Amino acid sequence: MNNIECPECCAEMNDIPEDVMVGEILDCPDCGVEVEVREINGNGIEICMAEIEGEDWGE
Ligand SMILES: [Zn+2]
Repeated sequence: MNNIECPECCAEMNDIPEDVMVGEILDCPDCGVEVEVREINGNGIEICMAEIEGEDWGE
């Protein structure tokens, strides 16, 4: 069971597929923000805000 927290609204996102892959885009059921899976490890999933086309978030 994967559990991650939305970086935008801090809602728990429970709807993560068990076979989720790094680089996959998920969206928050609460606020609809798109997040990208950055890393999967034994403790859970690291995510970040997905890059939105047309906007440069920098590094
Ligand atoms: Zn959210």
